[in-house]
Amino acid sequence: MREHERLYLDGAWVPSEGSGAIEVVEAATEEVMGRVPAGVPADVDRAVAAARAAFPAWSQTSVAERTEVLSEVAAGINARIDELADLVSAEVGMPRAQTPLIQVALAMVDFSNTAAALAEHSAETVVGHSLVVREPVGVVGAIAPWNFPLHQVAAKVAPALATGCTVVLKPSEQAPLTAFVLFDILDGLLPPGVCNLVTGAGPAVGRALVAHPDVDMVSFTGSTPTGRQVAADAAPTVKRVALELGGKSANLILDDADLERAVTDGVGKCYLNAGQACQALTRMLVPSERLAEAEEIAVAAAAIYEPGDPFAPDTLMGPLVSSAQRSRVRDDILRATSEGARLLTGGVEAPEHLDRGYYVRPTVFSEVTSGMAVAREEIFGPVLALMAHDGDDHAVALANDSIYGLAGGVWSSDPDRALSVARRLRCGQVELNGAIFNPEAPFGGYRQSGNGRELGRAGLDEYLETKAIQR
Ligand code: NDP
Repeated sequence: MREHERLYLDGAWVPSEGSGAIEVVEAATEEVMGRVPAGVPADVDRAVAAARAAFPAWSQTSVAERTEVLSEVAAGINARIDELADLVSAEVGMPRAQTPLIQVALAMVDFSNTAAALAEHSAETVVGHSLVVREPVGVVGAIAPWNFPLHQVAAKVAPALATGCTVVLKPSEQAPLTAFVLFDILDGLLPPGVCNLVTGAGPAVGRALVAHPDVDMVSFTGSTPTGRQVAADAAPTVKRVALELGGKSANLILDDADLERAVTDGVGKCYLNAGQACQALTRMLVPSERLAEAEEIAVAAAAIYEPGDPFAPDTLMGPLVSSAQRSRVRDDILRATSEGARLLTGGVEAPEHLDRGYYVRPTVFSEVTSGMAVAREEIFGPVLALMAHDGDDHAVALANDSIYGLAGGVWSSDPDRALSVARRLRCGQVELNGAIFNPEAPFGGYRQSGNGRELGRAGLDEYLETKAIQR
């Protein structure tokens, strides 16, 4: 049980101005595993004031000083990798065999990659008679979701600190515990006020942070509906807004692809973190003449992801994060069936062998058409939609027929063909033939998947202003 009674403001652990607490529930046991303060807008005011006061000095620190801090944070995360992995598996439900690498090491790499990118980053260029300088944007309000709770925090805090910004972080109320470990690591490494932690509910603490006149930039990761609200709340103060939102990403399997490999890999990509990944490849586009074959492979592959205790060593898929999330996913499964999608495996019934925990069975639909909600809306659960295509042009048209544009996949035995199809997709990242994630490459979305980019050098640019000095 993790009991946190204090927020981290101005370099110290202090009580909230409010008196409420938020319970953190373990995904597999449905038991309370922790408590954090339910912050209030007055806490946000204190945090923002501290961040603003710290900005002049922190923004003037040298690149070497900030690089050193980032490297020390990375080392601090590495030293506590087991504790952090336990917390994420308990809060979110991702199998403990996966969290050290996929959740915690990724967060560590966010800090170390940012340190490396910062060392290479050029803050000044010359354009004719102008000196063009890049300067930190100021006080950053960082708001994170629950599905990769430490990584998504790191992907904001690392570049903000690296560029000389100061930060007020609001983690997700559903998975806030790793943020306390991170601030334990930051405590002592940073001057007071440079990085502040306010936990609490989005509509209270998140909104206060977004609307605050002394916050210069909001970096938000979360759902597209909340992202719209964030953009609207930020508009009166014309602050910079970076949005990393939802997706309904397509995996295009072309007619010359190795179908067995492509479908098997695609099922795994869809079910990573029980489907609670924004870049999950949830629409699988298959040549119509091979749909029956693909269905068979997908059902066999899905069977491997039988849900189980995230702390058992052989579990490949754990529970969803919460009861509310499970209800939403079940509703989406029912809706897909009522719209005429053909259920191949899975469904709304709970797995028989599990009497508690927010489990959903790995689910595959076929004969999905682009008008159905299962093809259009983000589900954020282990639900794969198979759709038939009649060639590359049709596959590209289906893939791009979405309000989202976060990620995509292309499978072909011809690398040039795969690349040329990838160039036609309206999304922020594409993997060819199952290529692995690159944490140094820019990450973000087109269209209603957001704006701006995180990670690596592109992540640094988000937090910089540009000034032209004519000489
Ligand atoms: P939400 O949009 O519900 O919440 C995200 C964060 O915003 C939480 O900290 C939440 O607080 C807070 N929040 C809620 N309402 C407001 C508000 N009005 N103003 C300010 N902040 C608010 O998303 P989830 O946490 O459910 O995360 C899942 C979503 O995140 C999915 O749609 C997924 O696709 C997206 N995502 C996008 C990624 C990307 O990089 N594109 C990466 C990962 C996830 P509270 O703690 O109360 O929930």
